[in-house]
Amino acid sequence: MERTIFHKIVDRQIPASVVYETPDVLAFKDINPKAPTHLVFIAKKEKDFVASITDLTEDTAHVPGLLICAAQKFAKEKGIGGYKLTFHCGKGGGQEVWYLHLHFLSQEAVQL
Ligand code: AMP
Repeated sequence: MERTIFHKIVDRQIPASVVYETPDVLAFKDINPKAPTHLVFIAKKEKDFVASITDLTEDTAHVPGLLICAAQKFAKEKGIGGYKLTFHCGKGGGQEVWYLHLHFLSQEAVQL
């Protein structure tokens, strides 16, 4: 399995602006933001690794829910009232990093 830039962020081999972390999930600022608040949510555990929504199996079907719940909890904690959650699914969907991730975008700029 090819190690991606997000594997290296989880392993703290390369830096990222981490804004939220639990034993299961990590969220950090997108390096090329498309909104005033643009974060990326990923699962941390090896057992939860899946490259893309297009590769989900029964074993990893819970992962999108894990990321969505983490994003919802993060937004509540930070008082962000509105946001957009997106998965880029496969090359045709604009996916570039082959490590399943949830984009969190909000027009609300918050101090993180
Ligand atoms: P996607 O098109 O869904 O694969 O999006 C990958 C996202 O990861 C893009 O929005 C990139 O700007 C973002 N990204 C790539 N490398 C990094 C990095 N080192 N730190 C933070 N975000 C990154």
